[in-house]
Amino acid sequence: MGDTVDGMRIAVVGGGISGLVAAYRLRVLLGSEADILVLDRADRVGGILYTGEVAGEPLDLGAEAFVGRRPEVPELLREMGLETQLVTPAGLRPVVWSGGVAHAMPERTLMGIPADAESMRGLVDAETVERIAGESRRPLAWEPGADVDVYRLIADRFGAQVAERSVDPLLGGVYAGSSRSIGVRAALPTLAAALDDGAPSLTHAVSVALPPPSSAPVFGGLRDGYQVLLEALAARSGAKFVTATPATRLARGLRGWVVDPIGAVDAVVLATPAPVTARLLGTVAPDAAAALAGIELSSSVVVALALPRDTALPQNSGVLVATGEPLRAKAFTLSSRKWTHLAERETALVRASFGKFGDDSTLSWSDADLITAAAEDLSTVTGVPIDPISAVVQRWRGGLAQYAPGHTNRIAAIEQAVAAIDGLALAGAYLHGVGVPACVASANTAARHIATTAT
Ligand SMILES: Cc1cc2nc3c(=O)[nH]c(=O)nc-3n(C[C@H](O)[C@H](O)[C@H](O)COP(=O)(O)OP(=O)(O)OC[C@H]3O[C@@H](n4cnc5c(N)ncnc54)[C@H](O)[C@@H]3O)c2cc1C
Repeated sequence: MGDTVDGMRIAVVGGGISGLVAAYRLRVLLGSEADILVLDRADRVGGILYTGEVAGEPLDLGAEAFVGRRPEVPELLREMGLETQLVTPAGLRPVVWSGGVAHAMPERTLMGIPADAESMRGLVDAETVERIAGESRRPLAWEPGADVDVYRLIADRFGAQVAERSVDPLLGGVYAGSSRSIGVRAALPTLAAALDDGAPSLTHAVSVALPPPSSAPVFGGLRDGYQVLLEALAARSGAKFVTATPATRLARGLRGWVVDPIGAVDAVVLATPAPVTARLLGTVAPDAAAALAGIELSSSVVVALALPRDTALPQNSGVLVATGEPLRAKAFTLSSRKWTHLAERETALVRASFGKFGDDSTLSWSDADLITAAAEDLSTVTGVPIDPISAVVQRWRGGLAQYAPGHTNRIAAIEQAVAAIDGLALAGAYLHGVGVPACVASANTAARHIATTAT
């Protein structure tokens, strides 16, 4: 890189949370002289973080929470002076809708995988309970370093019902995928480590991999929605924002890089979804590009319903739907029950989610059909008549990367290939976790890499 830090011009391609954090962190590390540009193909920044308006008040229509046990988001809120925005859930638990009945969500599982048979009783049949109870007596063949889809591991050891009724509803929530589309190693790294270490059974591996019991809230959120964090990051990054403008090409240039259509820059952070990153790296890093092109995405739709305040929603944070149920929605967040700050609103709020990996059909449904399906399915799972006052539909095409078997090795290869290239870094939800905290961490790492190699 030719220029000094003072004159550095850096492009951040993609203005989702990963790109915005990268831009902000670059500003902190490089100071006021650096010229930072954030380029986004959408007409606004934020990507999948989007706070819309429902019944006249802000409500998150993409991500609505973050894992509270990870430090990244609370730390970022503190840095922004936004710590008073931090809210925690009311503490109610979700239920699983399976066999046309709501079941308590089993406790002390690892992404729905039980460490003992008793936690599954009621959700699965008696034969499956017995099978789990006897699992530790069956020899387990696991090749250290191996990776399989979660379904294969769980169905083989515990039976299909555990995968479809306990694991799928949770993986559906995180990845808009299922146990069949997600690999053990990337989604459940502590479980893979326990298996690699020679755990004699899956039951044993899960009990080793479970985090220690904690009274800390599992999730956090922002009182006025993610928008306040996006605005603070954008302002403090001091970046120039070029929206409604997709990056169409990345090539080496005299100065370092050329990003079409913004021109010459010294360094680039690509914070775009995997398929876009693959296209941009096509000529610059063909091996990394080929590996990136193999990462598939799933689409989803969120329908936010504002209901009469006295709608008798159950005392649960949400309803997750098991695989195979004759419903169209895959999950409901009973937002007014989940969050105390939303319970104070004039209307009762519910978010219905649709769409799973391999089935994008709901993306093309009309708003009216989606709202009707959301209301009817919500009525089915709660047993309460649902009469929306208003509703907002938000479609997320290709919103979530699928962490398929082999994902960890794929990412290691991509990162190794890109690390060898000066002035280039990657950030985003396909790297080390789809959640907002993991995106923040990936962006911090990308910005530090650029800052360190530039000085
Ligand atoms: C419905 C839903 C609910 C979720 N809920 C949660 C949750 O509660 N908690 C949680 O932690 N996580 C949640 N997630 C996951 C999390 O929101 C995302 O993984 C995260 O926001 C992704 O951020 P990102 O910046 O990496 O990518 P994105 O937000 O996808 O941003 C990428 C950006 O790149 C831009 N772009 C694309 N192509 C180009 C181009 N050629 N040139 C320039 N720009 C381009 C896009 O317009 C976009 O703004 C949810 C995801 C979805 C879909």
